[in-house]
Amino acid sequence: MPKARFEALGNTGNTGITEIEETVKRSELFAKLVFNDEKMLRFLTDEAYSKVKSAIFSGSKIDRKIADQVAEGMKAWALSMGATHYTHWFQPLTGATAEKHDAFFDLLPDGRAMEKFGGGQLVQQEPDASSFPSGGLRNTFEARGYTAWDPTSPAFIYKTTLCIPTIFVSYTGEALDNKAPLLRALNAVDEAATGVAQYFDKNVRKVNATLGWEQEYFLVDKALAQSRPDILITGRTLLGTAPAKGQQLDDHYFGVIPPRVLGFMSDLEKQCTQLGIPVKTRHNEVAPNQYELAPVFEEANLSVDHNLLLMDVMDEVASKHGFSVLFHEKPFAGINGSGKHNNWSLATDTGVNLLSPGKTPMKNLQFLTFFVNTIKAVDTYEELLRSSIASAGNDHRLGANEAPPAIISIFIGQQLANVLDELEGVSKGKLSPEEKTELKLNVVGKIPEILVDNTDRNRTSPFAFTGNKFEIRGVGSGMNCAKPMTVLNTIVAKQLNDFKKEVDALIEKKKLKKDEAVFNVLREYIKTSRRIRFDGDGYSNEWAEEARRRKLSNNQNTPEALQILMAKDTIDLFEEIEVLSEAELKARQEVELEAYALHIQIEGRILGEMVYNHIIPAAIAYQNVLLENVNGLKEVYGAAHKNITEAQLNIIEKIGGHINTAKKLTDAMVEARKSANGMATASRKAQAYCTKVKPYFEDIRVACDKLEKLVADEKWPFTKYRELLFSK
Ligand code: ADP
Ligand code: MG
Repeated sequence: MPKARFEALGNTGNTGITEIEETVKRSELFAKLVFNDEKMLRFLTDEAYSKVKSAIFSGSKIDRKIADQVAEGMKAWALSMGATHYTHWFQPLTGATAEKHDAFFDLLPDGRAMEKFGGGQLVQQEPDASSFPSGGLRNTFEARGYTAWDPTSPAFIYKTTLCIPTIFVSYTGEALDNKAPLLRALNAVDEAATGVAQYFDKNVRKVNATLGWEQEYFLVDKALAQSRPDILITGRTLLGTAPAKGQQLDDHYFGVIPPRVLGFMSDLEKQCTQLGIPVKTRHNEVAPNQYELAPVFEEANLSVDHNLLLMDVMDEVASKHGFSVLFHEKPFAGINGSGKHNNWSLATDTGVNLLSPGKTPMKNLQFLTFFVNTIKAVDTYEELLRSSIASAGNDHRLGANEAPPAIISIFIGQQLANVLDELEGVSKGKLSPEEKTELKLNVVGKIPEILVDNTDRNRTSPFAFTGNKFEIRGVGSGMNCAKPMTVLNTIVAKQLNDFKKEVDALIEKKKLKKDEAVFNVLREYIKTSRRIRFDGDGYSNEWAEEARRRKLSNNQNTPEALQILMAKDTIDLFEEIEVLSEAELKARQEVELEAYALHIQIEGRILGEMVYNHIIPAAIAYQNVLLENVNGLKEVYGAAHKNITEAQLNIIEKIGGHINTAKKLTDAMVEARKSANGMATASRKAQAYCTKVKPYFEDIRVACDKLEKLVADEKWPFTKYRELLFSK
């Protein structure tokens, strides 16, 4: 057996830290490492405290004097916790997080040493922007970029570093990250939703978008994972035959969590809890070695930060327990990939979930307003929403007969569909008193009862209403949730603004009562957004056909899905809601297309190496063993050898055939890569990688997997699926 694989197999197993000790209650650990309200009260002056609070609530500016005071307090707390460094923690367009640590330690001109951290360092830092993707923004604008403090997400200590969540922008203010547009979108949806919520309750001053993600992931023994070049470099297996047992027994989902995994989870949860990530649920997922973790939901910006932090912490803790954690959307062929459902809702500062039906008809009319407006927004901008979850990894799920389809549709369940049908039937203009009573008591008033029974869930739907929130199911497991959250909150903000204009016009010009006006507009929306609602099987061919008739988009891959970013409607939308300028949008499209092409390019290179340098040599080595055997048998048995060498010769020939196929296809793939690299624009390059290079991967895999089935196990150069998926 090749040395690497042999050693890897010998290295699996317990790392000695599986025992679970829980001596401290989670609630006592919670947010120990976060500069939250409690710490601010202790470490900030009253003035600084109230300025930070109002910045969080209303986005008001924090001046330099106050920033100095906040920095002083933060430093005192961080030093008391043993921190030695600080960093601005940000989200460049790579999709991951970035940080550059500076020590608090400083030397004064007279040689004395001290710990220094002032408002200047808190508010702004200048990482070298040229090392991050900018999609051409750097050429058009200033070369430099800077990070700026986001007071709405509290600073925290990770290991010995004080991390300050920040946005990352160019000197002229263009967003170079995923957080700045998210904050703009959240601000827009706050304003829009507050305006509409005030129809129903004058006391509402603020509306927060809420997000609760559910993170799926695979855990693979670290030594085994690292023995495979494909997992090591691309995060997924490019080759490998399915094991005799896959997920067909359905025995993993919610099954008993193996001890080493439980040790990892418990360690992870402890760390998350201290970092203020409110982790709550853990369980086995459908595929072998696949798991899920979900927190209590939070305000969306904080929740996005927490998800990114979680992914970093998971990597570290997994490694400590001898695991590699795989966030790739499709690490293994033939078994389920991983996603990250984004549960989303809107919550008022008066403590009301706007997507939760209430106890009175008025509360329910409020619910219906936000419910129908969300449906309408998704209907208008379905293709844009699809683009926000596009990535090379996620292409293996969306549109590839797994997880939700690439067609965006909404599932609301039969009972709510009935309610919408009844509302749609309401007459236009003024309502008679009888009609109003009927509507309020028997339609709107009935909703809470209905929802209690509404337990049917459609797991194939990409955008589902689940009782008191919507759930975007197509988000990839490795993605930054900021992208879909930016789009969703932007389109809902736009929709609510339009809604308010229409309702106000009916009240003023047609002299309708407020509730009549609301009914009238909702009725129109229900009618015009019908096509987006679909309760059937999202995976079926009939649905693809039907969706085409309904003129819903069905973009099967990332380069296609990203085209919509430069459509006029998209540019208008983002400019009107002030989330992204045309230049920023263009830059984002460019960055994503480049990332896509690079991704496929790297996969192609690794696949080439695996075929040329590992598989073909291993297959030839085994052929030689067989040949030697055949020659020996011939020598001993002479003419009588035929019967006893037939099988060997047959295997030699078969191996020869597959080597030939693998080699030819890989040669052709390398050629296709070369010509893709010659494409002039990012878009054409991405298209070429998608349609000319990637299609070879599957065929190369087939030939290699056939070889895996023929070549002696001890000669096979790669850790097999069986070993990756079933080692505990
Ligand atoms: P499931 O969808 O698996 O049945 P739950 O309904 O309990 O599970 O919730 C799943 C996720 O939805 C959790 O991460 C939770 O935090 C989140 N969630 C629940 N309510 C809201 C809400 N109002 N806004 C955003 N996320 C929410
Ligand atoms: Mg869910």
